[in-house]
Amino acid sequence: MSAAIARASRLTVIPPTYNDYMEKLNISVIVKRFSDESAAWECLEEMRWPNGPVCPHCGVIGTAYFIQPKNGHRTTSTGKVSYRRLWKCADCRKPFSVLVGTIFERSQVPLSKWLLALYMMSASKNGVAAFEIHRTLGVTNKTAWFMMMRIREAMKRGELAAPMVGTIVADETYIGGKKKNQHQQGRKRPNSSKGLAGHQPDKTAVLSLVNKRTGEVRSRVVANVEGPILEAAIREEVQVSASILHTDKGSWYNLLGTEFKNHHTVDHHRFEFVRGDISTNQAENYFGQLKRSIDGTHHRVSRTHLPRYLAEFDFRYSTRKMSDTARMEQLVSQTAGRRLTYESL
Ligand SMILES: [Zn+2]
Repeated sequence: MSAAIARASRLTVIPPTYNDYMEKLNISVIVKRFSDESAAWECLEEMRWPNGPVCPHCGVIGTAYFIQPKNGHRTTSTGKVSYRRLWKCADCRKPFSVLVGTIFERSQVPLSKWLLALYMMSASKNGVAAFEIHRTLGVTNKTAWFMMMRIREAMKRGELAAPMVGTIVADETYIGGKKKNQHQQGRKRPNSSKGLAGHQPDKTAVLSLVNKRTGEVRSRVVANVEGPILEAAIREEVQVSASILHTDKGSWYNLLGTEFKNHHTVDHHRFEFVRGDISTNQAENYFGQLKRSIDGTHHRVSRTHLPRYLAEFDFRYSTRKMSDTARMEQLVSQTAGRRLTYESL
């Protein structure tokens, strides 16, 4: 059997070493597994293609064969060794690599560094600062920042995500603003006016919806926290008539609340935060973690980039019960179909 066929057939089943590795994914395994560029290529193939190579051109699974490089290795146009692994689809006859259609495609950054960045961002609870990626991976600040933006793009939930159903907590907060105002005014207080953001042009309003049963959270930037805006946002994310809504006692949810199976409120004005199993605590916890990270790790997030940070936080929060391995696999599976060019940033 030729080496090419051997490789192709090996990939039709999950190699046992892969499961061994991935079950115990931790930083020492990661470093070993991702420190070598050719191992990183094989690792990504195994993660993206557990049932054999998937042709990105025609979608056929497992029929592609490995193209063995002449002289044992490939070189780039400048003569350097290339670790690119090429496959050829037996159906449509087109060549492809595991990078086609992913956020890694056409990147100059070695794949091993990408995988390490992916791991760092998916495993760290409060997020990773760009300078940590820069220092750990030995890439420039600008490259680190760009990699992180692309990884956040992968963390975004897909556009075809099914609407949330169940008991949904809805709550809003404000992000940003001048440092000295941030904690007094940015955070919602029982006695503060919700209209505050209108007088604080440097603050951005954020709505978060938490599914109590699944733990999934969906956040988005909203123009303001008035009824019609919140209603429209909730309608897009939730199957309203099949769900129960938990909010604080703000009149902006009342109208839509009547369309839910039930709408329960806790009265923050009267310092009531929990009544039975009714509370908005899940959303408060989420906001707390988000703000700690923005203050402590990122220091400042512009309004333009806030949606991508929210995608990162939603992803990590929604997958917080998963193992690091499962979360990493989930993220890798989302790296396709979301290529982000520099121009679109
Ligand atoms: Zn094909």
